[in-house]
Amino acid sequence: MNVEKSHCEQSGLYVHIPFCEAKCRYCGFYSEPVRNHNSARLVSAIITEFQMRIQTSFSPQTIYIGGGSPSCLPQEQLSRLVGEITSRWPKTDEFTIEVNPGQLNKTSLSQLRKMGVNRLSIGAQSFDNTELSFLGRRHSVENIQKAVDAAKKAGFQNIGLDLIFAIPGSTLASWEHNLMSAIDLGVQHVSTYALTYEEKTPLQKAVEAGEVKPVDEETDRLMYETAIEKLEKAGFRQYEISNFAKPGFECRHNLNYWANYPYIGVGPAAASFWNDNRTTNIAEINTYIEAIGKGESVIEESETPKPLQIACETAVLNLRRRCGIYIDEFQKQTGYEVLKLFAEPIDKYGELGLIEMTDGRLFLTREALPIADSILCDFSDV
Ligand code: SF4
Repeated sequence: MNVEKSHCEQSGLYVHIPFCEAKCRYCGFYSEPVRNHNSARLVSAIITEFQMRIQTSFSPQTIYIGGGSPSCLPQEQLSRLVGEITSRWPKTDEFTIEVNPGQLNKTSLSQLRKMGVNRLSIGAQSFDNTELSFLGRRHSVENIQKAVDAAKKAGFQNIGLDLIFAIPGSTLASWEHNLMSAIDLGVQHVSTYALTYEEKTPLQKAVEAGEVKPVDEETDRLMYETAIEKLEKAGFRQYEISNFAKPGFECRHNLNYWANYPYIGVGPAAASFWNDNRTTNIAEINTYIEAIGKGESVIEESETPKPLQIACETAVLNLRRRCGIYIDEFQKQTGYEVLKLFAEPIDKYGELGLIEMTDGRLFLTREALPIADSILCDFSDV
């Protein structure tokens, strides 16, 4: 249970690549088709942002290149970016890249492994080709199996798969098949997220038009509980509401995030939490590149949250972890006593058996997990 604690002094570097091969039907993130852009210009701009914004004293323990879909960058650009990062920060505990199946082969993965990338997060989403095409994914089940195989052959020993449940048309049986397929591939990490209907996405419009019927709440909950049961039985430990890992393979970069420790985000639309400031970069590729070219700041939004707000954010993020809030550590980090600050929701959910306190930790019980989001709302604003 102490993985979270032992890494809580970390800081991380996040690099955002807002390119995708094409837009998935459900995706509400900012990303653009890679074919419409000059990827070499974007990578150069990101490297310049490192030089402009990041002091040489910054020493991240974890690095994460996400998106979008970083693996849709041409190989030479991805290698250039990774090479620049590893020459600046040669010693990191964990270096993850998000990969979409079908976009990288064994040779390109071997090159990344040799350059120092030691973790892959593969966007599998489903092991059913009908579900993949419903979601607008460009890959097949076979591509996922090949991607995992190629990653293992390239020397990766820390591989994660992302899965989506509650896809319209899916059943408990088809979800179990997806989980077992992921388990059978022998990966170290699995993330499971319920499909969400983001505003203005083609999927949400299809729901509004009555063409698509979302999975009912009860089935959604049963699918989530099935994920916990099957993954735990297969030796994965649930360490966060949506994340499961074999012991020792928890994503350290994300643990840092749930600890509400600092990180710097680079690239269009990237967010940072640094020196108690939350900032977001310009979320438009060409405007971002032009600003970098002129030597101007790429920060579009900046906010300095008040200490109370930071305390609430820390509680909400910590409670996402199964280990919950370390009460002493919370006070050191935020200056607030968690039991006083959140006395009301702690009483309310404690009586319902949804929150517990043991060994100096306050955490959500297993019964609370399916409704965690609504519980966490009561900690976000006191
Ligand atoms: S690959 Fe990921 S980021 Fe890109 S459109 Fe699909 S879901 Fe969104």
